[in-house]
Amino acid sequence: MAETYKCPSCGAPIEFDGATGKMVCQYCETEVDVSAMDKIHDIYDESVVDETESEKEYCSFDGYRCDSCGAEIVTDENTSATFCSFCGSPTMIRGRLEGALKPQKVIPFRIQKDQAVAAYKKWAGKGLVTPSGFRKQSTIEKITGIYVPFWLYDYGSDAHVSAHATKRRTDRRGNTIYEHTDHFQVGRHIRADFEKIPADASEKMDDRTMDLLEPYNYSDLTDFQMPYLSGYQSEKFSYDSNELAKRAENRVREYILNEARQTITGYSSVSITSANVKLNRNKASYTLMPVWILNYKYKGKTHTFAMNGQTGKVVGKLPKSFGKIAAWFGGIFAGVSGLLMLLGGLLG
Ligand SMILES: [Zn+2]
Ligand SMILES: [Zn+2]
Repeated sequence: MAETYKCPSCGAPIEFDGATGKMVCQYCETEVDVSAMDKIHDIYDESVVDETESEKEYCSFDGYRCDSCGAEIVTDENTSATFCSFCGSPTMIRGRLEGALKPQKVIPFRIQKDQAVAAYKKWAGKGLVTPSGFRKQSTIEKITGIYVPFWLYDYGSDAHVSAHATKRRTDRRGNTIYEHTDHFQVGRHIRADFEKIPADASEKMDDRTMDLLEPYNYSDLTDFQMPYLSGYQSEKFSYDSNELAKRAENRVREYILNEARQTITGYSSVSITSANVKLNRNKASYTLMPVWILNYKYKGKTHTFAMNGQTGKVVGKLPKSFGKIAAWFGGIFAGVSGLLMLLGGLLG
């Protein structure tokens, strides 16, 4: 079932507002607490129950229909929140947000669309040689707020790390310099708990980009409620917590080895020779993280602007337009040869 949250005062679609942390109606400015929204929604639902029943009888359509206008909601298999492409109503797909698919936590959006657009313009405007298509209004309008599915892993660890270390010294006797190298076998036993190691669970999102958007501030982690998704896109996970565990475990292993290395000090060289790391997964919680994203295709390659929807951190690499580079260097070269001519004139 596709659902749209409605304003209790005027009945218009109502969306989550990152600035106030509440549901805000864009038409009559009514504000409602997120936690009150589902109750209000149920009352609305009961009043339209007859209509949906009769609709079911003559309609064998197995997709989703817009709550507001009845048009088909365009989704793929992972979409859990989107907009009606016909009337623009924010739409949630409850069946993909319940049971085993129910997120445990969410970090709600804080960065609003106008802030994301401003950041994008700054990003795309920075390069002297950025292709102009990046700055077109029609491109900018595609910026999308999406809740990306993540798993947050908790691990307990017990690790034995061995390293080979050396100390070098020299001394001089008469005319001879003696070099000494002492070799040490160094061991470390590290026991540590790791909490909320993130791994993005969406197959569409580039892992590297998602990693670069970190860190998120976990103090905003909130119990999941569906109204937070109203006005945004959202996806359900495409990889379960077992499928992604390796990624989290590799990160934990890295942390442990770094930690071990940092405690082995006072040597000329240190190299880790063996690491026996035992990891115990305590928990994996399904969490939605806020991301503003804009994909732009340029010369057959997709370029991604991504912004952390909580902290505002921006990630993305712009391509260079070679036509523009030529013009730019041409400009410099013309300037230099002009100067040379001037000098030539002065000297002559
Ligand atoms: Zn309203
Ligand atoms: Zn609609």
